[in-house]
Formats: sequence, structure tokens, C-alpha cells
Amino acid sequence: MTKTIENFLQYVTIDTQSNEYSKKVPSTEKQHNLARLLTKQLTEMGAEEITYDKEFCYVYASIPATPGYEKSPVLGFISHMDTSPDVSGADVKPRIVENYDGGDIVLNAEQNIVLSSTVFPKLATLRGQDLIVTDGTTLLGADAKAGVSEIMAMAEHLLTHPEIPHGKIRIGFTPDEEIGKGADHFNIALFGADFAYTVDGEALGKLENETFNAAGAILTIHGRNIHPGTAKDQMLNSILIAQEFHSLLPAFQNPMYTEKREGFFHINSISGNVDKTVAKYIIRDHDKTLFLQKKELFNSCAAFLNKKYGENTVTVEMEDTYYNMGEVLVHHAHLIENAAKILRELGVEPQVFPIRGGTDGSRLSFMGLPCPNLCTGGGNFHSRFEYACVQSMETVTELLVRLAVCYGRKS
Ligand SMILES: [Zn+2]
Repeated sequence: MTKTIENFLQYVTIDTQSNEYSKKVPSTEKQHNLARLLTKQLTEMGAEEITYDKEFCYVYASIPATPGYEKSPVLGFISHMDTSPDVSGADVKPRIVENYDGGDIVLNAEQNIVLSSTVFPKLATLRGQDLIVTDGTTLLGADAKAGVSEIMAMAEHLLTHPEIPHGKIRIGFTPDEEIGKGADHFNIALFGADFAYTVDGEALGKLENETFNAAGAILTIHGRNIHPGTAKDQMLNSILIAQEFHSLLPAFQNPMYTEKREGFFHINSISGNVDKTVAKYIIRDHDKTLFLQKKELFNSCAAFLNKKYGENTVTVEMEDTYYNMGEVLVHHAHLIENAAKILRELGVEPQVFPIRGGTDGSRLSFMGLPCPNLCTGGGNFHSRFEYACVQSMETVTELLVRLAVCYGRKS
């Protein structure tokens, strides 16, 4: 078994689920368990400048440049240690399905949980390879422990092969990516890389250089409750006004009807009574102009209802969450170009996609560290049907090694 897979099978058994409702940093104490192990392993393999930030739960380390390559740009690789709050990450029992036949995989016979090739047609592309799957009761944690495993295997490979020339490599492992806080306490100055890759994507070959522009909005409708028997011309039912608000938004600009670069308005939650209703929305678009237009439309729907029902009937609290990293990465096109070139050398056709979401990289790119996202070889993230492909993961490790070599400059 290769180091990449050995690492992965070890890391997924450590529960590092983050918690979106926690006010603590990191959101869960148990993420330190993996951070400690990675720090120990980095020390044992001879990595340098290792920092384990015990307060915020970040791990940083360096692989020094090979002699004569000290003037190369400093290249970073980043992945996240936590797993999604959506599905349990406790007591993960990974299993390897060798030489996958392209059909259904029974994950759990007792509970009749099946990884169906009909529901997940992408599985067909992995016929003949070895898949790591769950026992159907937890997620796997390939998101992003596949990335962590590949970065660790790349580091060990470079440290045990001093004949491979490369510049200085920085490694960073973050907590709480799944709750949107992975970049919050990332120390860009300490990291000190000129640019980096996050290793947090899915199928082999996928490269991501764009994210959404993202905003969140809380809509509050203030109604007026009166006994329904005497309500004529006096009652304002906030539930009905909320419904009216939603009907003003373009019906098909909704996650259920959009894909690729199409943006949307998404209502996450709604709760209320006649007197008061609160609805939470997220607004997304890759295109900056369309993003601004969507926010403006949202506000003008509220303004229209205030005209109709009276000032302050509807209030909107809107906040931007992150922006499309493509805006930054367009000035660093070499990052995706080099990754694509190496993938082709490895016999993999690269596919450059905009992410329909955000990554640590979108925040980091705007904080001054340009950071596109590489594939990991996993799939069906945040799910009991999550899997990782052994051969894909090994190819990604090779991709990381070759990227390290690619950015080496002999001085
Ligand atoms: Zn992830």
C-alpha cells in the first residue's frame, strides 16, 4: 500500500467533525487530535519550520528548497482537517473495494444501504479501479482528508528523495473549513508562500479557479396581529407577506433549476407567525455584475412591499460572505496552466470548472494568497455515499510532487 492510502486510512478514523453552532475556535476540540498527529508525523519525516497553532488549530510546515534552488518562488499546499457537520464522522470504518466492477456496492447489508451506480452514474468512470467506501452509517472524510493525505505523502516523498529538485514548499492544514471559517485565523505572513493550491476538490482532473460571489440575507417581516374576527382592514399577516416577497424573486433562479455558472436566490429557512416572520436567504453568482444585480433586486422587492404595506414592514440585513477568487486568479493563470499541463503528462484530461460554492481559497486569494483548488480523487462529499479512488489519489500525490518540481528555479 502506498503512503497516500496508508495516511488516508489512518486519518479518516479520527473524528474531526466541525460544528456550525459552536462559538469556540476551533468549533470542536477534537480537530486537535488530527492536528497533533500531523505535527508529530511532520516532525518524524524531517519537515522544518513546523508550527502547531494550539490556539486556533492550524498546522504549518516547510520542506526546504534543495541546494541551489533557494531563490525559487515559495509554493504552498493547503487542505482542511475537519469534516462536514451534515453527516457523522465518528467511528468511520473505511473499506477498500478492489477492482470495482462498475455496479452497485452494498455498503451495509444489515441496513440495506447501497452505493448505487444508477443514482451516482459518475461511478462508471472508475470501473477497474480500487474504491474506498464507508459502511453506510458515516461519511468517509475524503473531503478533505484525501487532500491532507496527498500533501503528507508528497512531503515525505520529497524529504526522502533529495535528488528531486524543488524550491521551498509550505504546507498548511486548517480547521473549520466546512463551516466557512477555515481562513479566519490563517496566518498568511507566517505561511509566507507566494501562491498556493488548496487540495480540496473532487474527481481526478477537476481544477477549480472560480468560486461564487456570495451574500447572506435575513429578511424580517413585521406584521400586525388582530383577532381574526375583527381583522378587516387592520391585520397584516407577515407569513403572507413573506410568501409574496418570495414570489417576486425570479422563480428559476433557484438552486433546483441552476447549474454551471448560473446564480441563484436560495431560501434556507423560514419561521414565523402572523406578527413576525423571519426568512434566511443566500444569494450566489459567479459574475460580479449579476451578483450585484441580484442583491439590488432583493432589496428592491423589500422596498416595493414597504411601499405597499407601510415603511419598515420588511427589513433586510444583508452581508457579503466571500467573493469569486477568479477575480484574483486571472492574474496568476500559471497556477491552473501548470496543473493542467502536468495532469496531461500523467494521462489525465484536465477539466477547469467554476466551483458552485466557496473554498478556503476564495478567502485566502482575497487576503493576498492566490489559491486555486486541485482535485483529490474523492466523490459524493458530505454523504454516507462518499468514496475515494485509490489510483486517483496516488495520481494526485504525483501531481503535487511534479508541481513542486515545476516551480523550482535554479539560482
Ligand atoms: Zn472540503
